[in-house]
Amino acid sequence: MLKVLIIAVAVALLLWLLFGRSARRGEPPRGGRNDARGGAEEMVACAHCGVHLPRSEALAARSLHYCSAAHRDAPPRA
Ligand SMILES: [Zn+2]
Repeated sequence: MLKVLIIAVAVALLLWLLFGRSARRGEPPRGGRNDARGGAEEMVACAHCGVHLPRSEALAARSLHYCSAAHRDAPPRA
């Protein structure tokens, strides 16, 4: 029973080493994908509160972007 446990731990360690290394090697491409996603989805700032959100989720009005209908309908800040 102990042998099975040791073998299981050894296999788990081997898999962790293999996938741990491949995951570390895969980090730069993952960062590249994040960059690609950031480039694909342009971020805009809410004209009322300044919070940044994807353009597709922003509400556009008067050539400005808003994070919510409440901020779109709120009077402009002085
Ligand atoms: Zn806002």
